[in-house]
Amino acid sequence: MPDKRISALGIHVRGIVQGVGFRPFVYQLAVKNNLTGWVCNTSDGVDIEINGDSTSLELFLNDLTSSPPPLARIDEIKSHSTHPNAYTQFTILESRSDPSNFIPISPDISICPDCLRELFDPANHRYRYPFINCTNCGPRFTIIKNIPYDRPFTTMAEFPMCPDCRAEYDNPLDRRFHAQPVACKTCGPSLSFLENKKITSSHEEALAAARSTLRVGKVLAVKGLGGYHLACDASNTDAVRELRRRKRRVEKPFALMAFDLDVIRRYCHISDQEQELLKSRQRPIVLLQRLPDCPLPEDLAPGQKTLGFMLPYTPLHYLLLEPEAGFPDALVMTSGNLSEEPIAYQDTDAMERLSPLADAFLTHNRDIHIRVDDSVARVVHKSPVLIRRSRGYAPDPLPLPFSFPQIFAAGAELKNHFTLTRDSYAFHSHFIGDLENYETLKSYEQAVDHFENLFRIQPEMLACDLHPDYLSTRYTLSRSREQNIPVVQVQHHHAHLAACLLDNSRATDEPVIGLIFDGTGYGTDGTIWGGEVLAGGYTGYQRRFHLAEFRLPGGDKAVRTPARIALAILQSHGFDWQKDLSPVRYFSENELEVIRSQILSRINTPLTTSMGRLFDAVSSLIGIRQQITYEGQAAIELEALVDPSEKESYTFDLDGTIINHQKVFAQILSDLEGNLSTSRISARFHNAVAHLCLDVCLSIKEETGIKTAALSGGVWQNTCLYNKTAELLRQHDIAVLTHHKVPANDACISLGQAVIAARFVSKEV
Ligand code: ZN
Ligand code: ZN
Ligand code: FE
Repeated sequence: MPDKRISALGIHVRGIVQGVGFRPFVYQLAVKNNLTGWVCNTSDGVDIEINGDSTSLELFLNDLTSSPPPLARIDEIKSHSTHPNAYTQFTILESRSDPSNFIPISPDISICPDCLRELFDPANHRYRYPFINCTNCGPRFTIIKNIPYDRPFTTMAEFPMCPDCRAEYDNPLDRRFHAQPVACKTCGPSLSFLENKKITSSHEEALAAARSTLRVGKVLAVKGLGGYHLACDASNTDAVRELRRRKRRVEKPFALMAFDLDVIRRYCHISDQEQELLKSRQRPIVLLQRLPDCPLPEDLAPGQKTLGFMLPYTPLHYLLLEPEAGFPDALVMTSGNLSEEPIAYQDTDAMERLSPLADAFLTHNRDIHIRVDDSVARVVHKSPVLIRRSRGYAPDPLPLPFSFPQIFAAGAELKNHFTLTRDSYAFHSHFIGDLENYETLKSYEQAVDHFENLFRIQPEMLACDLHPDYLSTRYTLSRSREQNIPVVQVQHHHAHLAACLLDNSRATDEPVIGLIFDGTGYGTDGTIWGGEVLAGGYTGYQRRFHLAEFRLPGGDKAVRTPARIALAILQSHGFDWQKDLSPVRYFSENELEVIRSQILSRINTPLTTSMGRLFDAVSSLIGIRQQITYEGQAAIELEALVDPSEKESYTFDLDGTIINHQKVFAQILSDLEGNLSTSRISARFHNAVAHLCLDVCLSIKEETGIKTAALSGGVWQNTCLYNKTAELLRQHDIAVLTHHKVPANDACISLGQAVIAARFVSKEV
């Protein structure tokens, strides 16, 4: 006989449980199980009280954990028995707030299947409405001005709901119950089409005009979720080239958007995991292998074997890309900015900055409160790897393996993301960009303020890089002085190592081997590090091995011109600058003399141990690329060439703590002389770096017993190198830790800084 006596439970749920349809879900579960009581949002989650027989209570708890709404994320459920009350029904109570508490905020979510169906259903009253959304989808982070997440605190505040929308908003059984951005044609935002900064049409006509612009090969600025895109027909070579010229983006790949997977399959190979990633609610740009007979122009991603595709993520994108005879099936959708500037997101600013770049504008009157760029991902070894963690992911908090004090970590100079921590959460910001100009710095400072306000964080500790000239370092040091908050300065590659450990949820300080390979990071000796083998953990590290130093003649000029680096390395190893070598042929006699004297006089020729620059030098030496137009280009093109069947390898020598590359260059020169194909040379070089990783790991393992290696730094975005290295290490019983939640590039730096500061605090106490 089931127990029919009434018992009662008090339940507290923590996680992403607000603005995601959690209370209606609880309401429906309670009603289904004949329970009475209430549910209520609090500042740090959701409180529930239920009364009923014990079997029903159990069923309720089961369903609560096993089938939460799609956007919810439950981090913790606590329940306790309490005294039954004389409730007659189950109700949703008004929110309770406690100003010191916080709740995570949902990222922006791509349109859900239900809304997509309604968008194209002529019988629905939101048929073809470009801003349709519900509790399961739509804008979130980009429209939130303040918390609690309620309409008056979003950019939807200026659109009072019509009676129809209001009825849905107020009905606990409706898919739009408390969906803050809910709107329709009657009451919500609307489209405008502009030419020469003047509105020429609205609504459906605006959409038609925008499509005509694209159809004839012109460039259209489109207002999206986190900012403006510049769009053009991806199959139209002239349009693509014109967009490159206007945007001053010479060769860096353009992102593409297609209506559905069938279209993308015409151009790229899609594995099951890639399909899942493309269709995920975050809808990142996914790097896919281009089909050998892909008819799209080479200009979309010169020198690369991949194309970056995303699926539409807003209703407006679906309407813009709707298939029709003669209309392009794939669009370039690149960020709306001049190369290097932050993406435009405010209408007047966009109009100013993008008018020289776009022939027309498709815009709307729902404001974007904070700019958020598209995310970029790829699949490696069947699992997703992030290259940029932004729209759709941020500000989803990363769970921490132990409790943190409130910390602000400033991040790196390039690909900046900052991190704020409190309790067991890290709030890793959206992509800020390269902190090299005033515009980006301003955007950074605004974003820091916004995050601290939203998540109620008042840092008791600051962390930043060692580099005295980074804008993020200066910002942090002056804040430390002004607000009297202690600051920890963290070495860049130590931050990489710590970030990788945290990414793998390591709670202990047990040391690992860090294979930290990137382009640049300020070393404790004032030189530029980047080919670093560390042994350590959160609390400290030793520099066990590093690449032999070489010079960058001309500093930044050398970073943009790999040929300069190749020459400097040849010189340092005593090899002649033979006339038939690619980097030598690249310069005039005069220029060669200037570079030679620069190297000899050591004026403006900083020393580096950078692995990224070593790849650049090899790319130059074998004739792939002498000058780059975007970061990583020379190495990316070198990787694209690798002959996968090549088994031979060059050899790095270990001299004490120095990784000597003289022999590698001698071997490359000899293979060039023997006319070995560049594909095989590139493969042998990749093999050499993988074997180097094995050698240093085995050496450290023998000495210390450490059997785990953490791989971090932008160089690891080279999937060929990563695969070869990970395989070799695992064959030799060395566990491999890599990045999953944040990218391996400098995006992860702030996370590493934060955990090092957290450990620093706990040591102090
Ligand atoms: Zn929806
Ligand atoms: Zn309405
Ligand atoms: Fe780095």
